[in-house]
Amino acid sequence: MKTLSESSIVYLDNHATTRPDPRVLEAMRPYFEEKYGNAASRSHLVGWDAEDGIEAAREQVARGIGAKTEDIVFTSGATESNNLAIKGLAFANRSKKNHLVTSSVEHRSVLDVVKRLAREGFAATIVRPNEYGEVSVESIERALTDQTLLVSVMAANNEVGAINPIKEIGAICRARGVFLHVDATQAVGKIPLDVEESSIDLLSLTGHKIYGPKGIGALYVRRREPAPRLVPLFDGGGQERGLRPGTVAVPLAVGLGFAIELALRERREESRRVLELRERLHAGLVGRIAGVRLNGSPRDRLPGNLNVSFEATDGETLGGLLREVAASAGSACSSLDPEPSHVLRAIGLDEDLARASLRFGVGRFNTREEIDRAVEAVARAVEASRR
Ligand code: PMP
Repeated sequence: MKTLSESSIVYLDNHATTRPDPRVLEAMRPYFEEKYGNAASRSHLVGWDAEDGIEAAREQVARGIGAKTEDIVFTSGATESNNLAIKGLAFANRSKKNHLVTSSVEHRSVLDVVKRLAREGFAATIVRPNEYGEVSVESIERALTDQTLLVSVMAANNEVGAINPIKEIGAICRARGVFLHVDATQAVGKIPLDVEESSIDLLSLTGHKIYGPKGIGALYVRRREPAPRLVPLFDGGGQERGLRPGTVAVPLAVGLGFAIELALRERREESRRVLELRERLHAGLVGRIAGVRLNGSPRDRLPGNLNVSFEATDGETLGGLLREVAASAGSACSSLDPEPSHVLRAIGLDEDLARASLRFGVGRFNTREEIDRAVEAVARAVEASRR
């Protein structure tokens, strides 16, 4: 089998996952080798080394989002962070308040959690986005009641790159005594984000979208008042303030911490470069193919995100024909799901057009030459599927 670097595939699926940065792998390495300890072993040097590693990583993660070190809980990824934030808060407070608010363009690990809680007796309001996939402050405000416990809104959308007005939503939630959870999986390291400035009480993030390892994420849980009280999803040895018991994956946590530090340090320069490549890709596709429609906002979107539909094209055939480019087809984030993307449907696309869509995520390691090659490959695939 060819490795990625030997094959001619152009990887433009950086919203699905990213290739770990070699510098991150280097930082993790000692924690697989000589620093292999259990961070909870308090009686010897091997344990202390591991503990030093995760505490330094905790500080890096905290700094990345403007939080305090003690507010960060390591998890296995954003799916777990979202589950812990929403179920944890809901179950800890159900005797006080029982209304949850979220949006119809959230990731399934938020939307399906809220739907499950609704089946178990919670009240839920699912607000709709505008035509660009953005959730407005007004729509959130209208949904609030005296019973509202939590609002959960993503910072940036993983399919159409929409960026939500989190600061304004946060101000309203804080004023109304409602907790705010933000799924910042796609936003961290890509756009500025500060939990204090935006009055965020709970925030989810993950390593593998920012050139870090898979299988590690974090949940920010505000410890100062108004501090959300959570019940853990599982019971065990009390690690991570008892909110996420289990031996912490030290090498992965170290990788997450360093990945965030790098992303932050290089964000401005990288955003500029990635945006230029994204624009080149968009212009190339529009110039080369008729009937290309942009999904999401023409202005305010994640720098690396491009989501387009191809009119009069059969989506399934297109997916099968496009071999040289790794992009995401119009059937949701998980191609395990045969349904067309719930996000594209929520912004008004019909089923066929939603299926005939491609999501591109331009990232750190892409080059101009790759973008030009991708344009040609997509054009050939669209032409062939139209024939
Ligand atoms: N939320 C968003 C917005 C995402 O894009 C993803 C990954 N597709 C997740 C949550 C889930 O993240 P993880 O893979 O770390 O569980």
